[in-house]
Amino acid sequence: MKNIRILLAAAILTGVGFLHASATDPIPPIMGRWEGKFIDPVKENGYMQTHPDLCAEVVALGGDKYHVRLFPHFFKRAHIFQEFDATATDGKIVFNQAGWKGEIAPGSFTGEAFADGKNPLKFSLKKSDYVSPTMGVKPPEGAKVLFDGKDLDAWQSKTGGPANWPILDHSILEVAPRAKNADVGGSIRTKDQFGDVRLHLEFQLPYEPEMSGQGRGNSGVFLQALYEVQVLDSFGLEGMWNECGALYHTAPPKVNACLPPGEWQTYDILFRAARFNPDGTVSEFPRITVRLNGVLVQYNEDLPDSTLTATSTQKPMPVPKEGPIELQDHSHPVHYRNIWVTPLADSAAALIEKK
Ligand code: MG
Repeated sequence: MKNIRILLAAAILTGVGFLHASATDPIPPIMGRWEGKFIDPVKENGYMQTHPDLCAEVVALGGDKYHVRLFPHFFKRAHIFQEFDATATDGKIVFNQAGWKGEIAPGSFTGEAFADGKNPLKFSLKKSDYVSPTMGVKPPEGAKVLFDGKDLDAWQSKTGGPANWPILDHSILEVAPRAKNADVGGSIRTKDQFGDVRLHLEFQLPYEPEMSGQGRGNSGVFLQALYEVQVLDSFGLEGMWNECGALYHTAPPKVNACLPPGEWQTYDILFRAARFNPDGTVSEFPRITVRLNGVLVQYNEDLPDSTLTATSTQKPMPVPKEGPIELQDHSHPVHYRNIWVTPLADSAAALIEKK
């Protein structure tokens, strides 16, 4: 009760929605990615004998509610062995679902598959310690640093005013929701304009277990202020056209590579701007390649229209030669750090030219 009073007071003082205040709750230790193997799979004459790997995602849904997915591989559109909703008691989940039974506890995820058959197959999983291979990568020579924790000199508001998102611990940029009747918060964009560009950034999603869909940890990275690479807490979801790694309304990620909220994640983006005929008409639309946490989620995808209008009835936006990079305020305290750009390297540009 005391915690609820504190959250309510914080929500009133900051103008932040009450449900967002749950981002301050500690992330339960059973939530997250788990990986391991079936034990002694030779007993089983089926798929598991040659594919003993087993992974799981445990997604917090608020209170003691969770969603659990069991499948063979991370970062592939693999089939799901089993998924189910579960309720934790004293921080543990005990499950028995269609032949899969076991227990999920802090530091331990054990159980049996085919528990109802003659040869139940035991498994044991540990919390994944996966870290993106580009986490913390330093800006290469010739890079333009857009944010290194010091200041927001490279950024401005959408209307040309100062960018006023808070910098936390001299290292982290936090999305500031737009305040009513005040020029505070709102999306920010670079003062510089970019055409062909390679972009690296790191982001951390807030823990908002009560929220779902587009209301859960939403932000976005816009190239040329028109083409959104979605930032969203999509941990444990299918990887749809509006989820993390998607080109919003345009292309779903090849696979859902989104990590749980609270973990730092990386985007590495190659953007090839549109090409134009001598009369100014577009000869080639922009194209984009995206790695989320080092995993290829978009490869050389066309961007035939702004992601802002891709499913609306508005007229297509004019295609620019250059534009700013924009970070979206979608009213969620998403964190960013280590943001820099370089011109597209010759090798990357050549790869993109192939299409
Ligand atoms: Mg967004």
